[in-house]
Amino acid sequence: MTAIEIRNVSKTFGNYTACRDVNLAIAEGEFVTLLGASGCGKTTTLNMVAGLEDASSGDILMGGRRVNELSPVERDVAMVFQNYALYPHMTVARNISFTLKMRGVPSSEIKERVEKVAAALELSTMLERLPAQLSGGQQQRVAIGRALVREPRYFLFDEPFSNLDANLRLKMRAEVKELHQRLGVTSIFVTHDQEEAMSISDRIAVMNGGRIEQLGTPEEIYARPATRYVATFIGSPRIELAAGEIGADGAIKVGAAAIPLPTGAGLAPGRPVDFGIRPEYVALGDSGIPATVRLVQPVGPTTHVTLDWEGGTLLASLPGFVRLNSGMPVKAAIDSRHLLIFDRQSGERLS
Ligand code: ATP
Repeated sequence: MTAIEIRNVSKTFGNYTACRDVNLAIAEGEFVTLLGASGCGKTTTLNMVAGLEDASSGDILMGGRRVNELSPVERDVAMVFQNYALYPHMTVARNISFTLKMRGVPSSEIKERVEKVAAALELSTMLERLPAQLSGGQQQRVAIGRALVREPRYFLFDEPFSNLDANLRLKMRAEVKELHQRLGVTSIFVTHDQEEAMSISDRIAVMNGGRIEQLGTPEEIYARPATRYVATFIGSPRIELAAGEIGADGAIKVGAAAIPLPTGAGLAPGRPVDFGIRPEYVALGDSGIPATVRLVQPVGPTTHVTLDWEGGTLLASLPGFVRLNSGMPVKAAIDSRHLLIFDRQSGERLS
C-alpha cells in the first residue's frame, strides 16, 4: 500500500524553481532516501511532505488522503534534523517526554513510553543526565527518541548525522537501520552522502536540479544508473568516464585503443558516447589497455589504483595490498559486461 505520494509537485521561490514536477510513491514501511548535491531540492521536498513548506503546485498524499492543507501535527510526521537542539536544562527523560506532556498525555503513560523508547535507543541508563553530559551520538539518539516517542506514522530525517564525526556517523547509520527494521515506520531520509544513502535505504531517489533523476534500489542505481549524472554521483571511488565512438567492429574506439562492447549492445557505428566502468571490474594483468600507474591508495580490503590511459583516467580497485609504483606501465583488463555507456548528448545510458 502507498503510504506517502508526491504527485507532480513543484516549488518555486520567486522565479527560482527549487523542485520541478517531483513524483514519488513510498510504500508502507519503506525507507526512501532523497540523495543529491547541495541545492538540488531535497530539503524543500522533505519540508513539503512535513508541511513546513507549501507546494507551489501538485499534491501530497498520505494514506491516500490529500494533505496539502494540513499542518505538520495533523500529518502525524516526526522530523529529525541536523541541528537537533535539545533543551540544555532538561534531562534526557524530560527532553524525550516534553511533547507528550504538552499534549496532555497522562504521566503514567509518558513514563512507560519514554522507557520503551530509551530501551530501544540504549539510553535507559542516561535518562537523568543533561545533554551536556552526553556525547554527540548520544545526543542525536535523544533527538531520535524525542521523535520516536510520539509514535508517529511517518519519520522524516534531514541530514541527521551531518554534525557527527565519521565513526559516529557509521554507528548511527546502523542504529537507524536497525530501528527501522524493528519498527517498520515509513521513513524519508535526506542526505548528500551517497554511501550513507546506499547503506540505509530500501530505495533511493537521486535528485539533480530540482528533479528526481532516478528512483531505484541501491543496486539498481549503482549497477544500472539511468544517466551519466547518476553514474558519477554514486560509487566510491567515483567512476571515471571517457569519450569515445562506437566502431564498426563491435568496440568503442578511443584514439588507437579499442574497448570491446558487451555482446548484444546493438549500438550503431559512429555514435559518440561517454563510457566508464566501476573500479572493481578493472584488473591488471598480461592483456588489456596499455596504461600507466599514477597513484596507489591502499584502504585495507582494497587498493585504489589511478591509471592514465589514452582515454584519460581509469580507476581500478584491486583486492588487498598491491605492489605497484607510480610511473609503472601496466595492462588494464576491462570486464565488458559491466561497461556503462552513455549517449554523449543526452547523458542517458545506452548499455
Ligand atoms: P542542501 O543539501 O544544501 O541542504 P538541498 O538539496 O536540501 O540542499 P534545498 O534546501 O531544498 O536544497 O534548496 C533547493 C534550492 O532552493 C536551493 O538553491 C536554495 O537556495 C533554494 N531555496 C530553498 N529555500 C528557499 C527560500 N526560502 N527562498 C529562496 N530560495 C530557497
